[in-house]
Amino acid sequence: MSIAEELYMSGLISYPRTDNTVYPRSLNIKGILEKLKNSNFSKEVQEVISNGRSHPIRGKKETTDHPPIHPVGVPAGKKLEGDSARIYELVVRRFLATLAKDAISENVSALFDISNEEFKADGYRLIEPNWRNIYTYFREKKNVLPELIKNEKIDVTKISFIEDKTKPPARFTQGSLIAKMEQLSLGTKSTRHEIISKLYSRRYITLSPLAPTPTAIAVIDALDDCEVVKPRMTATLEQDMDSISEGKKSLKETVAESRKMLSEVMSSLEKERDKIKTSIKDAQREENTIGKCPICGKDMIIRNSKKGKRFVGCTGYPNCNNTYSLPQFGGVFSTGKVCEKCNAPVVRIKAKGKRAWELCLNSNCSSKKPTKK
Ligand SMILES: [Zn+2]
Ligand SMILES: [Zn+2]
Repeated sequence: MSIAEELYMSGLISYPRTDNTVYPRSLNIKGILEKLKNSNFSKEVQEVISNGRSHPIRGKKETTDHPPIHPVGVPAGKKLEGDSARIYELVVRRFLATLAKDAISENVSALFDISNEEFKADGYRLIEPNWRNIYTYFREKKNVLPELIKNEKIDVTKISFIEDKTKPPARFTQGSLIAKMEQLSLGTKSTRHEIISKLYSRRYITLSPLAPTPTAIAVIDALDDCEVVKPRMTATLEQDMDSISEGKKSLKETVAESRKMLSEVMSSLEKERDKIKTSIKDAQREENTIGKCPICGKDMIIRNSKKGKRFVGCTGYPNCNNTYSLPQFGGVFSTGKVCEKCNAPVVRIKAKGKRAWELCLNSNCSSKKPTKK
């Protein structure tokens, strides 16, 4: 999003925070094509001008705030590089594809009889690529089948038995999570990525892999019976706001409804206050537990000193005074391992943009002294 904003500020693309997928009548498409004629995309522009569709394709969502993202300029002087170049190209290709003709393809389904067992193969052939030549990101998963004639006898060259297991669904990536949020009408194009970074900065999720933290799981478990954590409530609020902007609902009516909904939620939360408090506290404690104290055997947890510096302290305090200092930056994660030399917990430190490394917490540990050879 920040790259798209830079491209917008440099006058290369239109305002990138939009949900709109229908070009307004006022948009001068011919003018944009004229500008792009002298760019790296001149071949695609020619294709669209000489063999395009008469009206640009319309998306599902039409709003009046901003037009769909489209190119507005061609980089002059300094060439775009890296991600900026790739995002600019994506916007240009997408824009040109909305002006190109439909692709024509052929699906082939073939049945084979091998000793009275039926086998099936699905094939695919692209006849006229049209937009597919312009928007080159789309990949067809089906294979191309060779030319076949009905009732033709063909040789079986190889028979193999493939054993496979069903795999659990893969973890979300940031991209697939944004797509899921869109499907559930959560957030808007301009807020979805912010929602994800907020979840990260509040330590509800980790980013690689994209996974919930124990705190997040505890919050959701504690609020399980409560409307506030269900996607439906947020989606309803978003829809209401759209209705207001379209003039279908009044502001007063919507605010009154939301107030009622939220006060119901608040009173149910109020009743569960203690249960929620303990389960979140337990989870945070679990998240902050780093290992066992080598002196007394109790849990060691991450604490903050009065000056705001973090350190690892023994939960046996005040009976046990064992503490370890910690690097002040980066995430600290439990590894479940203990140091072979001194039995202190070994933690994993992961700072932004740096490789994760493991560390024995004991600063006097002999494993850290340079060994003489
Ligand atoms: Zn201890
Ligand atoms: Zn050690």
